[in-house]
Amino acid sequence: MEKTVKTTCPYCGVGCGVIATVTDTGAVSVKGDPDHPSNYGRLCSKGAALAETIDLDGRLLHPQIDGRRAGWDEALDRVAEKFAEAIAEHGPDSVAFYVSGQLLTEDYYVANKLMKGFIGSANIDTNSRLCMSSSVAGHRRAFGSDTVPGTYEDLELADLVILTGSNLAWCHPVLYQRLAAAKASRPGMNVVLIDPRRTMTADLADLHLALRPDTDVALFVGLFAHLVANNAVDQNYVAAHTAGFAETFAAASNMSFAEVLEQTGLPAMQLREFYRLFTTTDKVVTCYSQGVNQSSSGTDKVNAILNCHLATGRIGRPGMGPLSLTGQPNAMGGREVGGLANMLAAHMALESADDRDRVQRFWQSPAIADRPGLKAVDLFQAVAEGRIKALWIMATNPVVSMPDADAVEAALKACPFVVVSDILMDTDTTRHADVLLPSLGWGEKDGTVTNSERRISRQRNVLDAPGEARADWWQLAEVARRMGFKDAFAYGAPVQIFQEHAALSAFENAGERDFDIGACSDIDRQTYDALSPFQWPRPAGSTPAEQRFFADGSFYHADGKARFIAIEPVACDRTDTAYPFTLNTGRIRDHWHTMTRTGKSPRLSAHIAEPFAELHPRDAMELGVGNAGLLEIESPRGTVIVRALITERQARGSIFVPMHWNDQFSAKARVDVLVPPIVDRISGQPASKNVAVAARRFKAA
Ligand code: SF4
Repeated sequence: MEKTVKTTCPYCGVGCGVIATVTDTGAVSVKGDPDHPSNYGRLCSKGAALAETIDLDGRLLHPQIDGRRAGWDEALDRVAEKFAEAIAEHGPDSVAFYVSGQLLTEDYYVANKLMKGFIGSANIDTNSRLCMSSSVAGHRRAFGSDTVPGTYEDLELADLVILTGSNLAWCHPVLYQRLAAAKASRPGMNVVLIDPRRTMTADLADLHLALRPDTDVALFVGLFAHLVANNAVDQNYVAAHTAGFAETFAAASNMSFAEVLEQTGLPAMQLREFYRLFTTTDKVVTCYSQGVNQSSSGTDKVNAILNCHLATGRIGRPGMGPLSLTGQPNAMGGREVGGLANMLAAHMALESADDRDRVQRFWQSPAIADRPGLKAVDLFQAVAEGRIKALWIMATNPVVSMPDADAVEAALKACPFVVVSDILMDTDTTRHADVLLPSLGWGEKDGTVTNSERRISRQRNVLDAPGEARADWWQLAEVARRMGFKDAFAYGAPVQIFQEHAALSAFENAGERDFDIGACSDIDRQTYDALSPFQWPRPAGSTPAEQRFFADGSFYHADGKARFIAIEPVACDRTDTAYPFTLNTGRIRDHWHTMTRTGKSPRLSAHIAEPFAELHPRDAMELGVGNAGLLEIESPRGTVIVRALITERQARGSIFVPMHWNDQFSAKARVDVLVPPIVDRISGQPASKNVAVAARRFKAA
């Protein structure tokens, strides 16, 4: 019998609603959900091709130990025994989980609870560290909480939309469609793109600021100084709702217009026009994504943007405010449960003794992590140095996606015990697993995800689990029970986990934190199954409502005031004579992450069939490489060989290579082998967009 369910796309952070249908012959089709408030029926190419990516070719269908098929009991016993052994011999910080924004909130919750409350370490980090952790750090510095104030609707209500470090057209395509439709219907709306590359998003922009890499801080600090100099600061708002203005102005006062021009390399006319638009437009939304976050100054970039919105009081009102766009489908859900090494659960603070005590009492746990664990880059370095004796990787492929990818692979080879939970048998990462656990894929999973505008949606299963595949939360709970933590992990269904997660969000100081979904703390199975997408917060007794934060000027620092952050831009040109090009890594329209799913669709692969290096025609001429000729790109960490794509969309001296291709699709194309493990000092997010490299025409030996 035909079955239709409403579910959510598993790719980007837009979080589009999908209607999936499976016929009695097993054929699956998808279409956009017209009732979902994030996409209103739209889907992009990746979402529309979901049905082409769910066949069982290459699926991991049974647990494996050392490459041989094993039963679940044996595999789970082995994992529990090895983790317990490492903890007994070397302490709780000798084990780690590396998880993913692909996990559902329920999976994430159980992983975080096991590591922080029962093992007693905070060594759980996630590939979301590579995605938006600088935004989290920036929000917490400015607002006292990791809160995204606005909604997608603000993009349609704004008179000026600034897209900085965001190729919205390719990386959040349905939001781009919403913005393009709004712009078409409102001729007065302006769009400014800030990006060293002239991406496809530039086609929608009225003004494209092709600044030098990593000079966004100078641009926004200069804007702050300009707002002050032109009496554009909302003095009443600043006095009533903020702190730190004077220090921030003092730090910004060195950033003259001429200095901004010098640092960014922008034409004066363009810079003047950008500052004029921001100064004179009331309804301004600034969207930022990986181009801001994936930087050694990512957190400062975020705060430089937030400073300008706070100075003008443009935050939390319709059509106004900063809007961080997450890359992954459930990066936000991971933040809610504290699935990062420096966070607790329910937006509580690991550094707060009161919060730790509260969470421990709620969980009735034997321990609670009392200091931050290892963030992604440090975590794999600790593995390489032998400090991590047992590592569990879930739903991610770090051998392709982490910076210094060859070193990550070497670390996994050297690690005494590696568990990988995945849907595929053979990825660059599963090859290094001692124990492989088969997980559920999209269409089989059941739980919740949260998108960039704080909207919680259900992912529902339309297909039965293949082979012996089981949910990630189940795997974690079974290992926890085998480690002796029976009662706290006696979950029978995801609804029980969601209910507990909601109850924790409202435990004791309900209403004092931004993240409170107490209205769901007694949710029953039927209501969970029927749950419509809703935005948090949703405290007990409330009904679903579209909400913005901070409209009343009240923030989450103890005094209720937001903080300006004084920022000194630092020079970040990393090139030298040996490595004279700046490499920028990123995404293309039709592939997702390391292509383990989108690589299955011929239709998606037809858009761009091969990895490539985009470079300017004059650079190509000087290197003696023609279009589609092979280019060898080298950093001190490794080499890749890809075809040249010669285009004026790329600035001189810079090269763009997509991050998707792995060694299964194309030899020598894992661009992350080139990226050094340089991170933002506050967030720990790697700087994947400003890498000094050499380039030459490839000559076969
Ligand atoms: Fe999926 Fe993002 Fe495309 Fe929406 S925009 S269909 S969430 S990939």
